[in-house]
Amino acid sequence: MPYQPLTGQRALVTGANSGIGEGVAKCLGAAGAKVVVNYVTATDAAEAVVKEIVTNGGQAIAIKADVSKEAEVEAMFQQMFKEWGGIDILVNNAGLQRDAAFTEMTLEQWNFVLAVNLTGNFLCARAAARQMIKQGVTKISKAAGKIICMSSVHELIPWSGHVNYASSKGGMRMFMQSLAQELAPFKIRVNSIGPGAIATPINRPAWETPEALASLCKLIPYGRVGVPDDIGKVTVFLASDDADYIQGQTIMVDGGMTLFPEFAHGG
Ligand code: NAD
Repeated sequence: MPYQPLTGQRALVTGANSGIGEGVAKCLGAAGAKVVVNYVTATDAAEAVVKEIVTNGGQAIAIKADVSKEAEVEAMFQQMFKEWGGIDILVNNAGLQRDAAFTEMTLEQWNFVLAVNLTGNFLCARAAARQMIKQGVTKISKAAGKIICMSSVHELIPWSGHVNYASSKGGMRMFMQSLAQELAPFKIRVNSIGPGAIATPINRPAWETPEALASLCKLIPYGRVGVPDDIGKVTVFLASDDADYIQGQTIMVDGGMTLFPEFAHGG
């Protein structure tokens, strides 16, 4: 029997048709959760994720919504509640980069990254929290709900040339912790995962050639780039009752990237 700690729970993963979100959706499905695969572009990719979850014996549906648009987010959650009656797990994964030297960065690049990475988290977490509070604790889990934010090592590590992205992830840390404090009395657990370098389309140039990969690995004491499954497995744990006493934390899943690797040999 596979270990299915999330049996019967209803999950929504934003940006689940690519990269980490896709890996997370598949792991949640394998752990017994029903999964909403949110996407904003590439319907085919979202349907392929749904198909794989269903083929492996799980349940999933795809719902299109831009997480930075209030009306679309509200409509997505209403559709999910209509289909499945509520929500137990939200994974706020959707995110993007629009990199530029600071003095060249346009207001559009700044606003776009903050709108998806931070406002998207706010809109989805608010919709989920309202429903989780209404539901309260049921037999399905010790918590009334679990909210997991896909942050980054860049909520800690400053990142020149990516000031908008690093600011969004730094903001996500305070967002997550303040929300964890506010929602704990409602028995809603709020935590983040901080991925290091995970090979996905967002950072393809950093790993697709042997030279780039070797240079990237210098930043990773454990000596390998991560895969979406590394994040999916930790998401399952954080969403399960095995993590029932974890509240307001970021779990770095980074092969040691946040350990100041340049200090390994002197300093
Ligand atoms: P990715 O580009 O493969 O996936 C990002 C997903 O977000 C895509 O499905 C995209 O369509 C979706 N998305 C973008 N804008 C959206 C919107 N407005 N509404 C709904 N969905 C939207 O990249 P990824 O690496 O899988 O990134 C996933 C998350 O992990 C991001 O939040 C990213 O910041 C974070 N992260 C990634 C890494 C890494 O090394 N890959 C490291 C740290 C953090």
